[in-house]
Amino acid sequence: MEIPLFRLCSRPYPPPTMPPPLARDHMTWWLAASCVCQRHVDYAVRFLAEQYGPDADLSRVATRLRCRKCNRRPERVDLVDRPDRRVAEVCGGGARVRRLA
Ligand SMILES: [Zn+2]
Repeated sequence: MEIPLFRLCSRPYPPPTMPPPLARDHMTWWLAASCVCQRHVDYAVRFLAEQYGPDADLSRVATRLRCRKCNRRPERVDLVDRPDRRVAEVCGGGARVRRLA
């Protein structure tokens, strides 16, 4: 029996990265932002594309959002393919969700 000399015992570094989510690739998607003040807002990517341009990196757009109620940055921002599909409801349900912030 052969004993392997090396084993993969830790995650590869640097971790594999996903390509940046560009607005033009997600025109029918939404940014679902949640604030600590319990305010939830869904931004249509097609409207964000008009404001920031079709090549805007949505993960950077997500860091610029501010809550209109308390003016803080959102506690969490998800890129979702439907505004009514939030992470808590769809884990395991096959919905397309990507956390951005
Ligand atoms: Zn707020």
